[in-house]
Amino acid sequence: MHTLQSQLTSAEAIALEDKHGAHNYHPLPVVLDRGEGVYVWDVEGKRYYDFLSAYSAVNQGHCHPRIVKTVKEQAEKLTLTSRAFYNSRLGEFEKYITAYFGFDKVLPMNTGAEAVETAIKLCRKWAYEKKGIAENEAVILVAENNFHGRTTTVISFSNDEDARKHFGPYTPGFVTIPYNDSEALAKALAEKNVAGLLIEPIQGEAGVNTPADGYMREARSLCNEHEVLFMADEIQTGIARTGSLLAVCGNCSCTSHCERQEATYARPDVLILGKALSGGAYPVSAVLADNAIMDVIKPGQHGSTFGGNPLAAAIATTALEVVRDEHLAQNARALGTRFRAEMNAYIKNSRIVKLVRGRGLLNAIVINDREDSSTAWDICVKLKDNGLLAKPTHGNIIRFAPPLVMTEEQLMECINIITDTLKAFEG
Ligand SMILES: *Cc1c(COP(=O)(O)O)cnc(C)c1O
Repeated sequence: MHTLQSQLTSAEAIALEDKHGAHNYHPLPVVLDRGEGVYVWDVEGKRYYDFLSAYSAVNQGHCHPRIVKTVKEQAEKLTLTSRAFYNSRLGEFEKYITAYFGFDKVLPMNTGAEAVETAIKLCRKWAYEKKGIAENEAVILVAENNFHGRTTTVISFSNDEDARKHFGPYTPGFVTIPYNDSEALAKALAEKNVAGLLIEPIQGEAGVNTPADGYMREARSLCNEHEVLFMADEIQTGIARTGSLLAVCGNCSCTSHCERQEATYARPDVLILGKALSGGAYPVSAVLADNAIMDVIKPGQHGSTFGGNPLAAAIATTALEVVRDEHLAQNARALGTRFRAEMNAYIKNSRIVKLVRGRGLLNAIVINDREDSSTAWDICVKLKDNGLLAKPTHGNIIRFAPPLVMTEEQLMECINIITDTLKAFEG
């Protein structure tokens, strides 16, 4: 079956990356060669549970057969035309994704950072042409400890020193406000020239920083009051990860835009998606908005050679179908509740873990140690030895985000691996 066997040992593969690749990542020492569903295998054939899911790009599980089938079929037919011409897959995808999320229009891109850049450009243009803000004066509000990608503009409003330092001069036009603080938001919105609020419904990279239940709804209504675009970066939280189709759906776990949702839905003006939009098979991102906003972008004003290519369009359509057909939001919700309950039971008598937080299957534990200690890293290395892959995030926090196709039985096995591993650190 699997004929693409790597000939290298783990040590050899690591040495090659170390010597010939830029050192812009610090990976766990494991070399992955194959994946299927919730599992990945290293080059020596050892099997692991994947609790990162490529930062939630692989919500549908590794090498999902339906997605792989679409990749093969479309790759043999047509992959790239550029947008200089129409292609036979894009329109269908656009119709599907806009109905799926309940927006008039979509602008397809490739990576998450590009989609965020697109949202920023869209917001600024809307501010000058529709809201009437004076040229070059538009301000976009962002949250402390945000993560929106790695481009020069996006890191301009990061407050992570590693992401920002020595990459200036920085793009102006952004104001940082504290996260999960409606009062601070209200105050910032009352200032002149505010065009948009760019925000993650849960801050994934910051350590699954989960706001109060009503915060997104409050942010939504405050933005309404001030005629400011509410732009939700759901690149990590969206597409069933947090137990609903979108994290801004709040309490609803149905698989499409619905009426029941209205009570809790913090509907964004601009919705930013990426990662799981392709199930990890291809870089696909998208920005969704209604006509009154999206129509400010005219031919020649924005684009990307690969954005909206037929391969991406076909893959993304299938990836979204899988989420709906396999009830992944509902599964993420049920398993997430179980995960936090089991972890909380463990934490009661733990000295090494302070707390567990998250929604659906986007969760994290906070390690009870100095932020600059290596405990979270050491635990992740031990987890790897015990057959489970997770990665520390900022400040001694470990994120747990398995593929959403996991079964309850598998989850219980994983909870045992995690708690057994933690016990060895209780000291
Ligand atoms: C991953 C991520 C991005 C950036 O996506 P890339 O595809 O890595 O450019 C932006 N925002 C959030 C919330 C993310 O998690």
